[in-house]
Amino acid sequence: MCRLRDCSVCECPESEFPESFKKPHRFSMNDLVCQEGKPQAAVDRTLDSKAFRGWTEIDNPWTNDDETDNGSYLILIVVYPINYEMTYVNLQLNPERYTGYTGPSARRIWDSVYSENCPKLKDPSQELCQEEKILYKLISGLHSSISIHIAAEYLLDEATNLWGQNLTLMYDRVLKYPDRVRNLYFTFLFVLRAVTKAADYLEQAEYDTGNYNEDLRTQSLIKQLLYNPKLQAACPIPFDEANLWKGQSGPELKQKIQQQFRNISALMDCVGCEKCRLWGKLQVLGLGTALKILFSVDGQENSIQTLQLQRNEVIALMNLLNRLSESVKFVHEVGPAADRIMEGH
Ligand code: FAD
Repeated sequence: MCRLRDCSVCECPESEFPESFKKPHRFSMNDLVCQEGKPQAAVDRTLDSKAFRGWTEIDNPWTNDDETDNGSYLILIVVYPINYEMTYVNLQLNPERYTGYTGPSARRIWDSVYSENCPKLKDPSQELCQEEKILYKLISGLHSSISIHIAAEYLLDEATNLWGQNLTLMYDRVLKYPDRVRNLYFTFLFVLRAVTKAADYLEQAEYDTGNYNEDLRTQSLIKQLLYNPKLQAACPIPFDEANLWKGQSGPELKQKIQQQFRNISALMDCVGCEKCRLWGKLQVLGLGTALKILFSVDGQENSIQTLQLQRNEVIALMNLLNRLSESVKFVHEVGPAADRIMEGH
């Protein structure tokens, strides 16, 4: 389905796994599966699934259970479910960018995401409630962000392997539609709010990978992000979740929207391009984590004190925030130029 070999995910060799993530017993050479015949790409599929449970085993009601049951995890510099086995993936070596995944398969996924979960698209006479509008905006914002990353790193010339920006694509898919840009900002603010709300929890969490220097750096970067005075000043409460789920039908509505989001989460398994699936699952898990933080785990509002997150949820949340903020930055930097180019046409 993808035209580019580039769409496959490059898995880390065993030598790069943190010790603490490995199973206690050594694996034999027979356990290793080589990718594309390269010995350095040998993959250990015997990672200790418990390692990724990290902080808690509580499932997220907003996401599809497949991501956390059966020992299979989606994750981040880390794991990726393949037949309930796991591999270790460095996201920096597998950037979200153009892969050539397009056509009916990609279209069907987006159509299902929007129509299965948005009754108004099936029956225009139905009105969306505020909460459903939020779910729609979150998905649309994520969709804008993915399109922007495709435009930011596009294969301009296959013959010479020339990569660069595709401003026409960015304009045609996102900038031309002000609501898509607004939804990108909305999703960014929503996730930012979740991160700032969970700041105390995130600061105290363990980021242990066995690499002392990298772990220290991670902790320091997390603190810099959480307590950045510029962020606090510019965006004191980027999104106010307090008004939602009010009224008698609140709990029922919440369950319905949770189910809708779980459907979206499950749909990500159907994405036919390996790298798109990795990033799609990662970012949807990040959104599910933001929803969990903002709307609590068990139905009680403001239960942030009892919040518990899995390690992979935190990884997904932070990577999602990074993807969205890079998209917003790109829109700021090149958006006006793209508008000018298109207006000149
Ligand atoms: P699509 O982006 O497929 O959009 C389909 C339709 O959705 C549009 O016609 C429009 O009606 C509507 N739409 C588009 N944007 C929005 C929005 N922001 N809000 C509301 N409605 C909208 N391709 C890559 O090259 N790299 C990737 O990393 C990648 N990741 C993907 C991840 C997922 C989960 C999925 C489903 C696809 C991914 N793709 C990726 C494919 C990519 O998103 C497009 O589907 C593909 O490039 C074809 O684009 P298109 O022009 O047909 O429109």
